[in-house]
Amino acid sequence: MKPVLFSFNDAELQKFVMDMGEPKFRAAQIRDWLQRGAPDAASMKNLPANLREKLDLVAQTLPVKIVKKLQSGDGETTKFLLELNDAEQIECVLMRTTYGNSVCVSSQAGCAMGCKFCASTLLGLKRNLTPDEIYSQILVAQWELRNGDVKIRANGDANNNDVSHIVVMGTGEPLQNTENVIGFLERANSELNISWRRMTVSTCGIVPGIYDLIKWGRPINLAVSLHAPTDELRSTIMPINNKYKIAEVLTAADEFTNLHNRQLMIEYILLGKKDKNGETILYNCTPEYAETLSKLLTGKNCMVNLIPWNAVDERDFVSPSGNAVHRFQDILIKNGIHTRIRRERGTDIGSACGQLRLNNKKD
Ligand code: SAH
Repeated sequence: MKPVLFSFNDAELQKFVMDMGEPKFRAAQIRDWLQRGAPDAASMKNLPANLREKLDLVAQTLPVKIVKKLQSGDGETTKFLLELNDAEQIECVLMRTTYGNSVCVSSQAGCAMGCKFCASTLLGLKRNLTPDEIYSQILVAQWELRNGDVKIRANGDANNNDVSHIVVMGTGEPLQNTENVIGFLERANSELNISWRRMTVSTCGIVPGIYDLIKWGRPINLAVSLHAPTDELRSTIMPINNKYKIAEVLTAADEFTNLHNRQLMIEYILLGKKDKNGETILYNCTPEYAETLSKLLTGKNCMVNLIPWNAVDERDFVSPSGNAVHRFQDILIKNGIHTRIRRERGTDIGSACGQLRLNNKKD
């Protein structure tokens, strides 16, 4: 396995460069390119050609390598399948939005949570990602924004070639890898100047992990993947609910958001099923459940993101009709609950959690 330049500290990088018979200052030049996300030494334009070649032979730049890059038809979404040094694969997604450039990063290779609608967990958990491996996903996206073919730019942001928002919502459960996720976010804040308020961590509801975030004390955004308004229903689709009940999760989440005066994000996938006659029936998004959800959330400072389910072949749910989605939303709105329907992005490139990684394994 080749050494990873990005993982060297400054002294180690200098030694590496000097052992190659190069002057010390090359280390600072290389560091600058690494911080910009250079995928190889060949891209490091101010190094002499022979050094670039030598470097690419003996080392790799980042701890992630791009295996596949998919561009959505509208150019707004770029999805990367990345390979780690032990050949595990992860995904990250760059979204060019009107409010900035947002990157959705993975926190684990695979996932142990076993949610019944999700592709990421189908092959189980392989391992936690290191802070370097999570951070490198941002650098890959940053390089793409500056050097990729797509020229769409986010509106209204002065630094619109930069990654401005981070969502830890890719493969894995961030609060099962809290220490490394925090290490990554600290670095994104200090080295990339991304403010806490532009970072979001999404959890399926690991209560002690939420308290760890409270202890950490940074005013990031918290999203809870709720997906059902009763424990009975939620336990049928999210095994974690057998351990941490809805009331406990929401109490911890409220404590977090009240501390930082942030709005809690509630993720709610809309799931349907086929009955035995092949008709679509609503699973977690009947009008009754909309009323129950409204009661559960009344009085909370929260925003409900409704997400039509992205089909995953291995899962036996279906996506409900647009009408059903709007009916569900209308009831929440009537009850005074802030809600929006998450615009589907990149469905043409398999942007649902874990789809790309899973499909690549099947190829
Ligand atoms: N484990 C964390 C973060 C990763 S999942 C969590 O559960 O929040 C990110 C979000 O995508 C979660 O809300 C998850 O439930 C949702 N998701 C998973 N599979 C999906 C699918 N096929 N379609 C739409 N959303 C999905």
